[in-house]
Amino acid sequence: MVLPFRVNEYVIRELIDWSAAPNDPIYNLVFPQPGMLLPGHLSRITGLISTGSSEAELKRAAREIQLTLNAHPAGQKELNVPWMDGRPVQGVQHKYRETVLFFPAAGQSCHSYCMYCFRWAQFARPDRFRFEAHQPIALVQYLQVHPEVSSVLITGGDPLVMSTEVLRQFVEPLLDPSLNHIQSIRFGTKSLSYWPHRFVSDSDADDLLMLFEEIQATGRHVALMAHVSHPRELEPPIVAEAIRRIRGTGAVIRTQSPVVRGVNDGVGPWTTLWKTQVRLGLVPYYMFVARDTGAQHHFKISLAEALEIFSGAYRQVSGLGRTARGPVMSATPGKVAVTGVSRMKGEEVFVLSFLQGRDPSWVGQPFFARFDPDAAWLDELRPAFGDSEFFFEARLREIKATLPAGRSPQSVPPLLRTLPGPKPRTPNPAWRRKLRKS
Ligand code: SF4
Repeated sequence: MVLPFRVNEYVIRELIDWSAAPNDPIYNLVFPQPGMLLPGHLSRITGLISTGSSEAELKRAAREIQLTLNAHPAGQKELNVPWMDGRPVQGVQHKYRETVLFFPAAGQSCHSYCMYCFRWAQFARPDRFRFEAHQPIALVQYLQVHPEVSSVLITGGDPLVMSTEVLRQFVEPLLDPSLNHIQSIRFGTKSLSYWPHRFVSDSDADDLLMLFEEIQATGRHVALMAHVSHPRELEPPIVAEAIRRIRGTGAVIRTQSPVVRGVNDGVGPWTTLWKTQVRLGLVPYYMFVARDTGAQHHFKISLAEALEIFSGAYRQVSGLGRTARGPVMSATPGKVAVTGVSRMKGEEVFVLSFLQGRDPSWVGQPFFARFDPDAAWLDELRPAFGDSEFFFEARLREIKATLPAGRSPQSVPPLLRTLPGPKPRTPNPAWRRKLRKS
């Protein structure tokens, strides 16, 4: 009621080791646990239930608790939503210069929900709290006046919960020649783990793979940003088949996940995860830190522990597995990696670096925070060497004072009053043969 819960049959039957529940990592990944609510919130809800309160009272209490859970962390609502012609661009976030995130309304759900989900508010909150767009028109208009954007991440939830027919309506307009500066289209998804049938045996699985190939035929790169939390998600044979079929289109699968308590908080799971991914042809990409939202207090581990896990696993994989970056905080100023602990000027410090920044000039600049064994997020760190603030903070204040920059009306080229509809498709027999299921 406070945080969303959904689990499908595939996860229940194929991924959870019921002999180990409730300590099984996949059980912890998808089933709610009492500790996910702070003690005061838990006692409020259990108290209402035990006194037979009405559903309306329970819903009101749940809503009030949700309001305290930092629904959209890292300034997403205030800083990431661009404006055009005096209005916010619905369902779009533009935080880093080269990359735009797009949230199609029908994709704001997942086959199962991760209990640590950083997008829980997309599922649990009323509509006005959601990022979502019902049409791609505003996105296309925005991209037409932003030639600096080279990559669009279609995200959710999981955009691959949409049928291919619906997904196509959002993707095809991005292939318009007026958007030739868009060089890559990414799909953020956990379907490989929660519903690999999406790529193998769903009635429109072949169409989805054809869509990937059609995008690439326009000279663009397709990347599946696959959320994989635990090596067990890669064990069912159907996952290898899904990977084979996706890779057969030329798309590249990059993997990412937060490191979280009770699910994957050990060197062993990450070593196995990255080794298995390399064997299957996936590219390890990010180890994230649990974000400061929802049930973070229950799932978080300290930055020091996250670094130990990352380094321990990183040392045990071949160079092909060392494409992973982390542990990374996707924080208000940008993606900040904890790259090490060192002793400098007599002080023990965290060595940090921006992988992405609201100001691109921050990227790659090392900076230093006092070592704190308990800190679990950027705003819990203090600058090292007696500095009063981190190097980026003054500039971040400037950015906050001026953003959203797009609020100043911009000239928009002749609007695409009618976007090109889906092109008639001629079934490609070669493709059909290639994709035919064994
Ligand atoms: S797959 Fe991503 S969006 Fe979906 S529940 Fe998990 S963390 Fe949330």
